[in-house]
This record gives sequence, C-alpha cells and structure tokens, in this order.
Amino acid sequence: MAKHFPIPMSPSQASHSYCRMCKRQADTGESWPRCTKCKTVAYCSKECQIAHWPVHKPICTPRNPEKIWAIRILNNNGRYRQGIEPAHYFRHEVVSPAIFRYGELCPVTKHIGIPLIICRDMSRGFPSSNNMNAENIGSNEIAVKLRIEDTANALAPMDWQLDVPECVVMREDREPLTMQLLETIYSFNKYLLSYPIIDKGWAPWQGLLNPSVWQYYAMKYYEEQKAEGRPGFSYFLPPSIVEA
Ligand SMILES: [Zn+2]
Ligand SMILES: [Zn+2]
Repeated sequence: MAKHFPIPMSPSQASHSYCRMCKRQADTGESWPRCTKCKTVAYCSKECQIAHWPVHKPICTPRNPEKIWAIRILNNNGRYRQGIEPAHYFRHEVVSPAIFRYGELCPVTKHIGIPLIICRDMSRGFPSSNNMNAENIGSNEIAVKLRIEDTANALAPMDWQLDVPECVVMREDREPLTMQLLETIYSFNKYLLSYPIIDKGWAPWQGLLNPSVWQYYAMKYYEEQKAEGRPGFSYFLPPSIVEA
C-alpha cells in the first residue's frame, strides 16, 4: 500500500540551543557550537562532546535528503530476556526514502507526538520453519509491540501476529532516531499493554495515548536508565528538541 510521507525537514534550530551531553541550554537566541562533521548536534564544551561521542558516533554523518538514519530491530527476541536491554537488538542503519513506500505507521507513536514508520524486512530474519515452537512465534516481539493499534484491544494487525522478521523503523519526520528513544517508546507501549484497566474493560485505555502521559513516562524511564549508568539516557529532552 503506497503512502505519502512528508518531505525531509532540516534539523530544528532549537536542537542547537541544548548541549547534547549535559543538556545545558544556551542563552535565549544563542546556539552551542555544533559537531563539525554532521552539524546535527551541539555541545557546550569539548568535554561534553567527548563524553557524548560513544552515543553520537554511530549516527555522526552529514545530513543528506537521500539518506535516513533508521534502526533495524533484530529478530530472535521473543524469548525470555531477563537482563538483556531492548537496545541490544537495535542496529543503526542508513535507508533510502524509498523504504517509506513499504512502511506502516506505528499508531501509538502518532498520538505521543513522535510518529514512527516501521517496515518488515521480508528478506531477513524469519524464524526458521523447524524452529516454530512457542518461543519463536512472534519472534520480533519488540517490533510487534511498536506496531500495536490504537484500537480497544491494543493488538497489532493480524499479519503482524506471526512470523515477524527483522524490521526497520524510522521517524516520520526523517530526523535520526536514537536507540535510547526507540527503547523508551517500546517500553512505553509495553507499559500501556500491561495497564490493568485494559483487562477490566473499564475506561478506554486510549485515554493514555497523549503526549503528557508519554513525556512523564519517558522522563522517568531516562532517569532510571541513567541511574543504571547507561550512556545516552542523561536527560529526556523537551519535545521541541529532536533526540539525535
Ligand atoms: Zn554540555
Ligand atoms: Zn556529528
């Protein structure tokens, strides 16, 4: 099904008034110096730039309207995963805008203000047919949870219920997507699905689908991950700033 998605946007100026590392805000109307290679992120100091490099390095590349930074979600993640971070299954990948033609909107992400497009890579990562036990069915669990519908039962579409291969996901606005943000959105969807009111069928769970609930959740999630010492979770940026 062909869909039309917006043409590329330039990085917002607001993104350059925040230091990517310490999140210090420049004085009104000012910007911090940007990464000289990609010009997409800004830092208050050399120290902050060096400290942020492990997070920024994978997507440090000059902006090009013919390229989009996406994240591939690897398979074999339907199994029990205690102690493994969701981002363990993520890989940065450059894709061509043509991929948007095959992509599907993740409805929940539209409601929270960060619309994501997801695309199944039919060429890679199907569970092998002799491996079809309960553990492997729906083996790209992360992708399926990103794709849940905003309808009453919160299920992914029928064709997403079984045999989901590796997927590629990107922001609809074509800004680079960070692994930290994607993990937080996945975790948010998981939280929505575990919300006890869904089972009880009382208030419609869709009432939770708004930027306010999301931003509060994301702030807390970033704080928790930061406390664990994980890089890239130092601070959840205000929604006007792209989390590149
Ligand atoms: Zn800084
Ligand atoms: Zn850079």
